[in-house]
Amino acid sequence: MMPFIYNGLPSRVIFGQGTLAGVAEEVKALGCHRVLVLSTPEQEGQARQVLEQLGQLGAGVFAGARMHTPVETTEEAMRELASFGADGVVAIGGGSTIGLGKAIALRTDLPQIVIPTTYAGSEMTPILGETKDGLKTTQRTLKVLPETVIYDVDLTLGLPIGMSGTSGINAIAHAVEALYAKDRNPIVSMMAEEGIAALARSLPTIAGTPDDAEARSDALYGAWLCGTCLGSVGMSLHHKLCHTLGGSFDLPHAETHTIVLPHAVAYNAAAAPEAMARIARALGTADAAAGLYDLARSVGAPLALRDIGLEAVDIDRATEIATANPYWNPREIEANGINRLLDDAYAGRRPDTLEATDA
Ligand code: NAD
Repeated sequence: MMPFIYNGLPSRVIFGQGTLAGVAEEVKALGCHRVLVLSTPEQEGQARQVLEQLGQLGAGVFAGARMHTPVETTEEAMRELASFGADGVVAIGGGSTIGLGKAIALRTDLPQIVIPTTYAGSEMTPILGETKDGLKTTQRTLKVLPETVIYDVDLTLGLPIGMSGTSGINAIAHAVEALYAKDRNPIVSMMAEEGIAALARSLPTIAGTPDDAEARSDALYGAWLCGTCLGSVGMSLHHKLCHTLGGSFDLPHAETHTIVLPHAVAYNAAAAPEAMARIARALGTADAAAGLYDLARSVGAPLALRDIGLEAVDIDRATEIATANPYWNPREIEANGINRLLDDAYAGRRPDTLEATDA
């Protein structure tokens, strides 16, 4: 067996249906007395329900969380936090709200309880991306890792069908890159394969029957596993490309992940055969890249970058940005190959590395 290093991340995870009912107990267990509940404006109703459930332990709601964690929003939330004299935060929502909770924890060291309602996985990572003056920077520090995560399947039953598919494939992307990470290890790889399988079998069911609690449970379980992979090992080409496309061209996060993933996998296929075999096995397909494309199609997700706002003229600039700074990837990053990858993702062509090898 290849030698490895494994770093366990300390967090408490509560998983099930109706688990939100235990939120007050969890707040108490962390020694908090007055917590601020965080959400986006769209999820303020849910945040107010949590506040009600907290009773005396709830200080108030800040419903201003926004995508990419702008520093101005964090500063606004910090003022609310101080005015309420809050001693902890409860974040209910997706990666945007969880990012705000992390940004507050970075500045205050206050404990966080996170109640995820998408599959993006930020709750399981010590990673924080923040935006200042239009520039997004990412850091990794245990200070931002949430202490307690409450996964309540009931809260995901209403996640819109479109977002369920793209958010789920966003999660799969973490596990895919974990399988060929430079610092991969057997435990995380096992979680990765199981996470991909759980999402691959549940997402198509959810696309047809969004309130299927069994499928929702499977998907949230997969999202937890995939988030843990993201938090544990380094990511490479796929995440770098999505960061570039999101940051420089303002493309939507989960959709971009969904479209780029099959092409990033096709690019890396020959350099990471063992990872490809495990991805294909988890998907139940012969080819990892084609399997991911077919999964996206089966859940009705967008398949082409041109359909979510990228212009053809952007491909060259995206290639330049994505290849400017060197980073580790199983296959060497070379501009022509990346340009072709982006062109395929732009047009939404179906990759098939087996066919390409046979030809
Ligand atoms: P999001 O949090 O931006 O949510 C998108 C919209 O969907 C919001 O309006 C939100 O309120 C709404 N929503 C969320 N759950 C819902 C539900 N169950 N029902 C109805 N509406 C719901 O989306 P996201 O994809 O979860 O997060 C994306 C952000 O998270 C990006 O900024 C990304 O960079 C970040 N992220 C960070 C990490 C990390 O480890 N730091 C990991 C993954 C994602």
